[in-house]
Amino acid sequence: MIIGSSGRNPTIGKERMNGLVFTAPHEIDFRRDLPEPVVVADRDAIVSVRLAGLCGSDLHPYTGREPMRAGTIPGHELVGTIIDAGNGMHAFSAGDLVLAPFTSSCGRCHPCRHELSARCREGALLGFRPEVGELGLDGAQAERVRIPLADSTLVRVPPMVSEETALLLGDNFTTGWFAAESALGVRYPSRTEQAKEMTIAVVGCGAVGLAAVSAALQLGVARVFAIDPIEERRRVAATLGAVAAHPDESAAVLARDPRTQETGGAMAVVEAVGSPAAQGLALTLVAAGGTLATVGVHTQSAFSFSPGDLYDQNLTYRAGRAPVRSILDRLLPEVVAGRVAVPVEAMISESAVPLAEGPDAYRRFARRAEGVRKIVFVPGS
Ligand code: NAD
Ligand code: ZN
Repeated sequence: MIIGSSGRNPTIGKERMNGLVFTAPHEIDFRRDLPEPVVVADRDAIVSVRLAGLCGSDLHPYTGREPMRAGTIPGHELVGTIIDAGNGMHAFSAGDLVLAPFTSSCGRCHPCRHELSARCREGALLGFRPEVGELGLDGAQAERVRIPLADSTLVRVPPMVSEETALLLGDNFTTGWFAAESALGVRYPSRTEQAKEMTIAVVGCGAVGLAAVSAALQLGVARVFAIDPIEERRRVAATLGAVAAHPDESAAVLARDPRTQETGGAMAVVEAVGSPAAQGLALTLVAAGGTLATVGVHTQSAFSFSPGDLYDQNLTYRAGRAPVRSILDRLLPEVVAGRVAVPVEAMISESAVPLAEGPDAYRRFARRAEGVRKIVFVPGS
């Protein structure tokens, strides 16, 4: 496919667009004069954004925990239509509805060929630019976004999949799925038998933790514990089928359950927060011989346990960015076939927020305002 390709579409690159901009910690501006993204490489696509998500990861720079370059357009979750592309983009057509995993990936390097697209040697995180240097990419909380390596990064949204489902598949749901698989040591659709005997505790019930709860239940585990200090998020986790507990009560709740009593803790624990406190709590909940899988992004160097703590319980520790593009190769067909369900209503609390309300949305999300779990922007409105 060649659409407009670097200047062939005369409007692209000359107009201004609406979008959000990170200017400093706790400061997100809505602007109407952002430069349009343009094709700069053969494998680029320009996507007109229909939905853009606000993720817990956006809070790290917003709250000042993770330095980010002022002027960056944030956001790494999107569904949109392709409106322009470089000469090397043959896999898609103009107007195709696509989702983007939150990192770009070349599809050719060793990590890409071994189900680790999140660590592609040429890949980059959307909506994040380091404070120093020119690396990084502007993100999706704008009317349009440039996706590099688009032919191997973007995924066409199948007709039966809703746009909100597709948005969640590009990050939070697939990350939760990855977390549950990593903690349980299974790989859907094969090798799931052992999950049926297992218990799992999910620390953190934001959209990622809720997705991990849902994934674990769909993988057939015997019991899911969901842990979060926020009552409303615990309630949502319980509606999915988890036994919910406040962090301070969680050890006692696990100790009362006959399954975790027998094993001395949960055989699998997911940490979906990204703080030393949550990490420390997660470790206390794992049974000897069990696995702790961390998907929370840790921006502090403090580590709440030592290699000796893992040794003393024969624990397995897994951590990392979800290789969303790789996982979608096997997960998306299951969603299309109706064998895996994405709990859209549990995960998304606000689904059509205009970008102009972005600064307020960030404030509400960061202070955990009542009822706010995941906010989705509609850039076109
Ligand atoms: P979120 O901010 O909406 O949710 C975090 C939840 O953790 C909140 O509900 C909060 O109340 C809870 N929490 C805080 N301290 C806790 C504690 N001590 N014990 C239990 N719960 C606690 O964020 P999210 O969008 O759900 O993302 C969760 C984490 O996952 C973030 O760190 C994010 O950066 C990370 N993330 C990682 C990947 C990946 O690929 N590894 C992808 C997406 C998000
Ligand atoms: Zn994210």
